[in-house]
Amino acid sequence: MTSTNLASLPAVDRLLAEPALVSHTALHGRRVVTDAVRDELAATRGAVRNGAPLPERNALLAAIEARIDSVCRPKLRPVFNLTGTVLHTNLGRATLPEEAIAAMVEAARHPCALEYDLESGGRGDRDDLVSELVAELTGAEAATVVNNNAAAVFLLLNTLAQRKEVVVSRGELVEIGGAFRVPDIMKRAGAKLVEVGCTNRTHARDYEDAIGPRTAMLMKVHTSNYAVEGFTKVVPQAEIAAIAHARGLPFVEDLGSGTLTGLEAWGLPHEPTPREAIVAGADLVTFSGDKLLGGPQAGILAGHRELIAKIKKNPLQRVLRVGKITLAGLEAVLRLYRDPDRLPERLETLRLLTRPQAEILAQAERLQPALARALADWPLTVGVEPMRSQIGSGSLPVDRQPSAGLVCRPQKKGGVLNRLEKALRDLPVPVIGRIADNALWLDLRCLRSEDEARLATQLVQLAPAARTAAR
Ligand SMILES: *Cc1c(COP(=O)(O)O)cnc(C)c1O
Repeated sequence: MTSTNLASLPAVDRLLAEPALVSHTALHGRRVVTDAVRDELAATRGAVRNGAPLPERNALLAAIEARIDSVCRPKLRPVFNLTGTVLHTNLGRATLPEEAIAAMVEAARHPCALEYDLESGGRGDRDDLVSELVAELTGAEAATVVNNNAAAVFLLLNTLAQRKEVVVSRGELVEIGGAFRVPDIMKRAGAKLVEVGCTNRTHARDYEDAIGPRTAMLMKVHTSNYAVEGFTKVVPQAEIAAIAHARGLPFVEDLGSGTLTGLEAWGLPHEPTPREAIVAGADLVTFSGDKLLGGPQAGILAGHRELIAKIKKNPLQRVLRVGKITLAGLEAVLRLYRDPDRLPERLETLRLLTRPQAEILAQAERLQPALARALADWPLTVGVEPMRSQIGSGSLPVDRQPSAGLVCRPQKKGGVLNRLEKALRDLPVPVIGRIADNALWLDLRCLRSEDEARLATQLVQLAPAARTAAR
């Protein structure tokens, strides 16, 4: 009985000749389609042997097409970031301004003068593409760019403090997203961490007392993702710098995010800038390219010419350097900072962070009917509510921006929120929200108006009827 059933399954060649699969072959090539047909036939045979009914021809074809889609769909897919965290590390942090995107496409498409001096026709230095701009925008004498800020910190420690001691306040031994921990980076870089002060309070004399013959530098690390409140004391940068300089040592600061301009002008809280740190006496600062700066993933080291020159001589600089696409994007982003007045319109990160709540609220009102309709058969209510977004990626950890969005609240207890979260992730452009306080929150701060229709259109697929039909 079972063997007769199996014999009536169509042969591989016959399936490959089906018009639906012929068009897939034209698109993706014969091998991908043949593999999908074979895999699906094998899975079907297994299922039938276990008592499943023989699938209809159309169901079989649909299953094969689903296999092809899942193999051919890029792994790195765009998503809607409705988490309320603008610089979401797991969702790729900063989204770039058009100027940077265009520059990156050009750099990808054409040969470019990456390390080629067009003036002399001789060899150039890739850092020259951005170091003058960084200098102009931060007040540093020189700069170099590596893969990310973690690499920048590592390279600086490895170059200037190998087999030596680095003095850091106990209140600043930061862990960023699990993998970046100041003590671990220090160890791997070959430097010895000398912790001073207490978690909540560090005094100038703590730094002074810690300096000895093996001290390489005093270091400050921006406490990016937490705030110590209450009975606290930190030593101002200028004071640490003075202590270091009096002993002939450099003072360096890991700024973490590093924005190149004061954010207060746009109603955002203050975040320390490289220029402030350098004015206060920092000899070297490091910061990320893809946090508040709003550019591609990169780590920037800026400071004294001799220190940067030393760092560039470290063979690890060659290991950690960035490629042309990153430099193209970074250069374009840095150029935008030359015109701070227009920054909130042109720098996508800043535009998102400064979107007024009323505008986001209006967007939520426009989308609410579509979501409510799509979820009509779900045991949920869909409302428009104010909420608070955060910057993310360790920038301004305790501040929240008034925002708005859609909130789905269950009518009764059960796993409906997790099911909804999954259904949203399964949409063609996955929608990433956030479950908190027995509700699913979709913060619309990061929804660009150009993408609103695309989001609304795909919501239909959340309706149970649509979901069954798709299967
Ligand atoms: C984010 C951060 C880092 C790590 O930067 P990446 O660009 O993610 O490598 C290091 N130090 C501080 C203080 C940070 O905030």
